[in-house]
Amino acid sequence: MINISIIGVTGSIGTQAIELIRSNKDKYNIVGVSAHKNIVKLIEIVEEFSVKHVAVTDKESYNSINKILKEKNIKCNVYYGIDGLTKISTLPEAQTVLTSVVGMVGLVPTIEAIRAGKNIALANKETLVVAGEIVMQEAKRNNVQILPVDSEHSAIFQCLQGNNMNSLSKVLLTASGGPFRGRTYEDISKVSLEEALKHPKWNMGKKITIDSATLMNKGLEVIEAHWLFDCPYDSIEVIVHPESIIHSMVQYTDGSVIAQLGMPDMILPIQYAFNYPKRDKCFVQELDLFQIGKLTFEKPDRSTFKCLNLAYEAGKKGSFYPTILNAANEAAVDLFLKRQISFVNIAELIEESLNLFSYSEPLSISRIIDVDKEIKDYIYGKIL
Ligand code: NDP
Ligand code: MG
Repeated sequence: MINISIIGVTGSIGTQAIELIRSNKDKYNIVGVSAHKNIVKLIEIVEEFSVKHVAVTDKESYNSINKILKEKNIKCNVYYGIDGLTKISTLPEAQTVLTSVVGMVGLVPTIEAIRAGKNIALANKETLVVAGEIVMQEAKRNNVQILPVDSEHSAIFQCLQGNNMNSLSKVLLTASGGPFRGRTYEDISKVSLEEALKHPKWNMGKKITIDSATLMNKGLEVIEAHWLFDCPYDSIEVIVHPESIIHSMVQYTDGSVIAQLGMPDMILPIQYAFNYPKRDKCFVQELDLFQIGKLTFEKPDRSTFKCLNLAYEAGKKGSFYPTILNAANEAAVDLFLKRQISFVNIAELIEESLNLFSYSEPLSISRIIDVDKEIKDYIYGKIL
């Protein structure tokens, strides 16, 4: 039996994790879960899996969940806010924590889960983007394994098994290219929210779907790979692979390339992270290469999709630049989702923030939180 806490259980990754857990209730036990606003779904999960601890981060939803639980006579402990998320991620009975909240709100609960010695199944990439150095140091110090759930990083992690890191020459990070692959800058300056939300291969939360359309998702993943695999930025190459069958590859010094392939289904990396180092049978449809027929590769169009270069630059500069990049992106994507800015404004606002702000003090969690707020205030202040 594996005891699991899930922060962000109501989202796309959380829902797929629930599907996996439901398929093998003898193996997995849910000890704590969190949601932001979707308390209807949260309560369904609490009832189905008899969860004893929940956290809600939105104030109004927190106020109403207590009332509903009382009416339904469901007994469980309810916590609020970031402290509540941290309570769920550090429950003494939890062995593994799935971090599937969206955005840098996952930072503190993840750090505290590491300090409490939990295995981390990490979907929440923003945490590694803003504080990769601190997260990886804490993981090392506490002898904690960070198991990537992001499909590309799960693939890289699998390709690295049994090999010596000193022989690694390149990480080849694959990208679907998103809904606007092949379009010109003029084209993408006119796209609508609805078009941007139509991802060709993956069904995901809104924020990551927009990140995939701008290629910022790939940029964030470059920074994530840098920290997870201690790999220099110049050795991480992005390859557009529209079929999304190869989830990423690594190249060794002898020129040999090892790839991980599978159906584009997040259940697979979630299951691998929960069971590592073992492999379990999975209900996901098996890959049929004859049916797929061919796999293709292209270079990313970095002049049209500016976010990829911005992420490389911020990552290479280090310090608080990835925090500025991430905060500006979170705020700009939120404004785009609210139809207050255009698609290309997202990259413009991020570039402007990276040029305008700089911080020279040492990196710390509390300063990352301050900088995140300062950048978001700046972006919202400009538009609202
Ligand atoms: P979703 O938007 O579908 O879900 C986000 C989850 O976080 C929900 O449970 C939501 O609660 C909760 N949440 C939202 N806002 C807050 C907040 N302010 N404070 C606390 N919790 C909040 O996102 P995804 O599942 O798509 O993505 C989650 C993470 O996983 C992201 O970091 C993403 O980059 C990463 N990821 C996702 C993949 C995917 O296929 N979806 C693939 C690889 C990585 P509620 O529903 O109640 O609002
Ligand atoms: Mg990914």
